[in-house]
Amino acid sequence: MQERVILHCDLNNFYASVELLDKPELADKPVAVCGSAEERHGIVLAKNMIAKKIGVKTAQTIWQAKQICPELVVLDAHYTLYQKYSEVVRNILYRYTDLVEPFGPDESWMDVSGSVPLFGSGEAIAYRIKEDIKAETGLTVSIGVSFNKIFAKLGSDYKKPDAITVFNRENFKEMLYPLPANSMIGVGRHTYNKLRRLGIYTIGDLADSDIRALRNAIGIIGERLWYYAMGLDMSPVVAQSDMPDVKSISRSTTTKYDLEDNTDVWKTFLLLSESITKQLLENDFLALRITVMLRDSTLMWETYSASLDTPVHLSLDIARQAMKVFYENYDWKCPLRSVGIAVSDFMRSDEPMQMSFYDAQDREESTKLEKEVMKIRERFGKQALQKATIIDFSEKINDYKSFL
Ligand SMILES: [Mg+2]
Repeated sequence: MQERVILHCDLNNFYASVELLDKPELADKPVAVCGSAEERHGIVLAKNMIAKKIGVKTAQTIWQAKQICPELVVLDAHYTLYQKYSEVVRNILYRYTDLVEPFGPDESWMDVSGSVPLFGSGEAIAYRIKEDIKAETGLTVSIGVSFNKIFAKLGSDYKKPDAITVFNRENFKEMLYPLPANSMIGVGRHTYNKLRRLGIYTIGDLADSDIRALRNAIGIIGERLWYYAMGLDMSPVVAQSDMPDVKSISRSTTTKYDLEDNTDVWKTFLLLSESITKQLLENDFLALRITVMLRDSTLMWETYSASLDTPVHLSLDIARQAMKVFYENYDWKCPLRSVGIAVSDFMRSDEPMQMSFYDAQDREESTKLEKEVMKIRERFGKQALQKATIIDFSEKINDYKSFL
């Protein structure tokens, strides 16, 4: 079988680098991109190299970060802008293969095995990509080149910024086996603790372990990690076109009686949002755009949209944003018969900084929300929600007021 050529491209300090593109005066200062300072999102999402060296860490509060680095320049996050750059970069990658698998907004795997005759070795292709991205966006990238996805990802981490690392059959043991086991994807804090209890500290230790002992000690993940360490990962690069394509998620409901005031609408939005959140979580998405759909007794649907600066996935946030769009656009000249919410412009939630940000900030909020939604459910009953796809909009499916 022909050896695969896999690349992993990782944009360096993505959010901070995008922010600095049009602020060259900040290039030699420590900079952090933060959730908006006045809200509860006042937390570090990304930092530049200078801030990183001083000790600023992702998920610190702005206050903590400034204790460590008083001269830190704090910038607001602009997700719509990051998404735009993410797309531009992805289109550069598509020049070299259509086998591109995005992993968060700033990382992608590529299978360039079929492109070698056209563009040269994996390393040569990596070099071209790196220079294309730099010339066309001003951003730098680290690229790992190897014969499987796991080692390619280790390669993009190995040397950065603006660097290429090749792990081939000849050098991978020498270069990778001294690295700590938790530098490998799939080894989180819990797994690493378990491994260390077994005396396994490095990737080399993993490769030297007995696969059955690993499996007995930490389960199926142990077996998989052994394969990874041995360079036996065969998982394919999955092109985005082969992934399930969800472009928007929407829910709406039609009531037998009119919705007459903001409270009616808010309650309905909460119910719709809960169902949207469930599907967002299933797909591992955060949404950057919200659309509110309204229909009065004339049976004409009106839609209003807004782009969000902070991505949403929790139902209380979705309901709040929907309410904001609603306030800004509806004047209650007549009562409403149907309302709906759609979310779109998705980004993946598996980006580490995003996750830590939400874990830290939103746990309390989401618990409160669960309770609120449960209370509403008790009052209105489960039937208050229907999937938009199965609703015939001309029918009065839900007797909303009867639940009151
Ligand atoms: Mg990155």
